[in-house]
Amino acid sequence: MNKETLKKNLREIPDFPKPGILFYDVTTLFKNAECLQGMIDELYELYKDKGITKVVGIESRGFILGGALAARLGAGFIMARKPGKLPAEVIEETYAKEYGTDTIQLHKDAISKDDVVLLHDDLLATGGTMAAAYRLVKRCGVEKAYVNFVIELKGLNGRNAFEKDVEVTTLLEL
Ligand code: 5GP
Repeated sequence: MNKETLKKNLREIPDFPKPGILFYDVTTLFKNAECLQGMIDELYELYKDKGITKVVGIESRGFILGGALAARLGAGFIMARKPGKLPAEVIEETYAKEYGTDTIQLHKDAISKDDVVLLHDDLLATGGTMAAAYRLVKRCGVEKAYVNFVIELKGLNGRNAFEKDVEVTTLLEL
């Protein structure tokens, strides 16, 4: 996927959700047919030979490409969600945010130890959210788990939230 096309179609919203924050709005990437198809194609090329059996999408913007990619790879799709959303028994991890903490959950029976997992979200900032989801997946006994984001905010060094041996890919660095 051409990086300039992605960049051109990504909308920036100043002062959202609060003053001083520049928010990268991926809805404009999802609504553009060329970008949507191009991102799915690129992800498919990156992961088609990895033996992925489950794609985990992080609530909620990680559900869009995560679901599409799982279908393309012939893998299952798992939702990693905020507390109170998943109906069956869950496992959870809590992580530090700028102010306070947040928690992410998976269904306890969503992933088994012989799964090969790809975790996907729209954007890597500090890495706290994805690192917590990664820990959850590892708690299921999984040996190999890959991590992908559409966008990486390089200045925040979010990759440092993961051990060196975790394979992290991103489609666009900002
Ligand atoms: P982190 O845990 O890496 O600090 O933050 C990443 C999480 O916050 C992701 O789930 C991502 O969706 C959300 N996020 C933080 N900033 C932005 C942003 O500018 N744009 C979008 N689309 N998501 C963001």
